[in-house]
Amino acid sequence: MKAVAAVLREPRGALALEDVELEGPREGEVLVRIAGVGICHTDLGACDGHVPLPLPVVLGHEGAGVVEAVGDGVRALQPGDHVVLSFDSCGACQTCRDGHPAYCREFTALNSTGRRRDGSATMRQGDAPVHGSFLGQSSFATHALASARNAVRVDDDLPIELLGPLGCSLQTGAGAVLRVLAPAAGSTLAVFGCGPVGMAAVMAARAVGCRTIVAVDPSPLRRELAFELGATVALDPDGAVREIRSLVPGGVDCSVETVGTGDVVDAALRVLSSPGRCATLGFRGARNRIEIDQGHLLFGRTITGVIEGDVDPQTFIGDLLALHRAGLFAFERLITTYPFAEIDRAIADARTGATLKPVLVMP
Ligand SMILES: [Zn+2]
Ligand SMILES: [Zn+2]
Repeated sequence: MKAVAAVLREPRGALALEDVELEGPREGEVLVRIAGVGICHTDLGACDGHVPLPLPVVLGHEGAGVVEAVGDGVRALQPGDHVVLSFDSCGACQTCRDGHPAYCREFTALNSTGRRRDGSATMRQGDAPVHGSFLGQSSFATHALASARNAVRVDDDLPIELLGPLGCSLQTGAGAVLRVLAPAAGSTLAVFGCGPVGMAAVMAARAVGCRTIVAVDPSPLRRELAFELGATVALDPDGAVREIRSLVPGGVDCSVETVGTGDVVDAALRVLSSPGRCATLGFRGARNRIEIDQGHLLFGRTITGVIEGDVDPQTFIGDLLALHRAGLFAFERLITTYPFAEIDRAIADARTGATLKPVLVMP
């Protein structure tokens, strides 16, 4: 079938909207008409060449839309279903079976080679392949092929065009808090970096009843929004470690860092109590050497890296929507919509931080 996709032809190049020929769904796949797609930090990194993908390629991994057709063997979904697309996983390896599909042994093969596992590309222009399957979708397009495992059915009374970010950035921040750190009600938590991932962590911390939630970000506007979404204190990074340690004597129970630089990881460790736990989420490429103080860790402090919130999207996205209905996860406040044709403006605004979470809406 014909689709219109934003095609990247060279690192840091503009994304041109082009006609492509998209295959029909093979066994286990679903064809989704995309209603809206978020722009995530990882898309920006992939545009810059930090993810080794063959070119030309279609990015986009926070898609949501309506199922148009299903391949053989797909029973859980049917045409007309509203779905949020997330990362893909195999469902068969030990980590998938243990409930940690974000650490699937086939994660790279399924999500970041630009091809299906059998090596085929999902799109073509004439005889030339156009690479796709990015995070199991490539949803900077009017239509995308996903698998029945990474298409999550959601209620159809919700604005489907806005739900895509649940499938990556929002589940990343919320999952790190709700599934990995799992702070008890009444505990204390600090979040470093108030982009969409950090804001989701703040909302999740509020939802579980953390007593003190400190949001740290250089932007006054973001600090104000973090405060409205559940932070009890919002601080500029300058002097934040000292202020947090005087605010919470002994340090906070948990911290979440969403930036990934040495300075920020170090700060997120230094505010911890003994014992205390830090989740590091910021992605800055596959190699990112930083220095941390081992002597500080010895006092029962731990740091763990988290991808995609370590959640199973098939259950966790529904959990987030239940929080949303209860007024505890107002993710729509992070979103600014753009017409699909203005993808380059949306990406520019994501890079400068002018927009927290751009979502492209299909015509
Ligand atoms: Zn697996
Ligand atoms: Zn993402």
